Amino acid sequence: MEHTPAIAERSSDRQAPSFLEEADDEPPDSSEVLRHPQASSTPPMGKSAKNGLIVRFPVSRTTATNPVSRMFRKRFFPKVSGKLWNDWHWQVAHRIRTAAELTRYIPLLSKDEEQALYQADIRLPLAVTPYYMSLVSPADPDQALRRTVVPVYRELIRTPGEADDPLSEEAQSPVPGLVHRYPDRVLLLALDFCSTYCRYCTRSRVVGHGALHPTRTRLERALTYIESKPEIRDVLLSGGDPFLLGDDRLEWILCRLHRIPHVEIIRIGTKVPAVLPQRITPKLVKMLKRYHPLWMSLHFTHPDECTPESQRACSLLADAGIPLGSQTVLLKGVNDTVDIMKNLVHCLMKMRVRPYYLYQCDPISGSSHFRTPVETGMEIIRGLRGFTSGYAVPTYVVDAPAGGGKIPLMPDYIIGREGRNLVMKNYEGNRYQYPNAFCDPI
Ligand code: SF4
Repeated sequence: MEHTPAIAERSSDRQAPSFLEEADDEPPDSSEVLRHPQASSTPPMGKSAKNGLIVRFPVSRTTATNPVSRMFRKRFFPKVSGKLWNDWHWQVAHRIRTAAELTRYIPLLSKDEEQALYQADIRLPLAVTPYYMSLVSPADPDQALRRTVVPVYRELIRTPGEADDPLSEEAQSPVPGLVHRYPDRVLLLALDFCSTYCRYCTRSRVVGHGALHPTRTRLERALTYIESKPEIRDVLLSGGDPFLLGDDRLEWILCRLHRIPHVEIIRIGTKVPAVLPQRITPKLVKMLKRYHPLWMSLHFTHPDECTPESQRACSLLADAGIPLGSQTVLLKGVNDTVDIMKNLVHCLMKMRVRPYYLYQCDPISGSSHFRTPVETGMEIIRGLRGFTSGYAVPTYVVDAPAGGGKIPLMPDYIIGREGRNLVMKNYEGNRYQYPNAFCDPI
């Protein structure tokens, strides 16, 4: 018996649609624009070394040094080759860690900075990579990047409502260095070491104090805890900065997590692409690719951090199939305007980093000079939503004190109701009525 397909193939489906047959109006293909780079509507950012064709985001896989950092290297490290400068081990070994070292690059400290640097009881140590220092203004104490890494006296003053551990992470740590706040995910602090210390760090009670080592015993306890909780499907590896571990040690942790059957995804939280982009090497990303699904939360604060070096680092990660999101902390005098934030999110989008969260700065001890009112954050979101791509608008969140978790905050677009209609205003402030579906009272 002849087999009859359940759905007979219609004769018209076998024929090409008629518009494809019109030879004089063929659909375009990419070869034309690639042959004629000037035809591209996107401003070219460089050339592919291989064939001279212009592609959209070509980034050198070897080195890419911005002119400011190059001049800085020539001035302060004239005997250091470009190759050595781009070695992350060299960058870490030559971090600026003392007041005396700092004055070599910033000869005239402000009074506020001087007082802080010569105080013995500053909580968070000073450390800045030479690369990041090259982006810091020696002349302007109010420059955004300088404010984020150079201590000031005000960070010694604790104001009401502030605490060393405002998110109660310690109380939610079943084993040292593991925070279990949400039912299905945990935060694993790999180490307490960072290449550059951010003055507003939520974990300033821990980082840089040498109390949280990546020892086998501690990590085994954390892994055993994760293994014993089948509800944990997502592990965020953070610190300190996990990328300050060598490739082998980092791989040991990733491999162990990857082997736990109920751990579905691993995330890494890092500021390395902004402060030590040299750490993102082809060898590292080759290793990371083995542990998919792997996600990454990067920490960018200001558009000045989006250099060719950072772009190269993000490209290597994105090319390895790692989804990249940025967690940006809202900081007074650093990024608390719509213009700066819009510039930052646009830079991030071009680096293939999705602006993910905008964090209200946590009330850690000595943070009053960094904290803005919550209304500032909402105004920034209002200034982004509708005025730029939806992908570029982060979710603004407050991490609730005492471990309540992240609470999203949105400007209010609902004005009220008229009958069944919802009255709303759009991003331009114009009123619209939406016929809301009727909801039967239960
Ligand atoms: S990189 Fe992260 S953990 Fe390290 S000091 Fe900055 S905010 Fe804190």
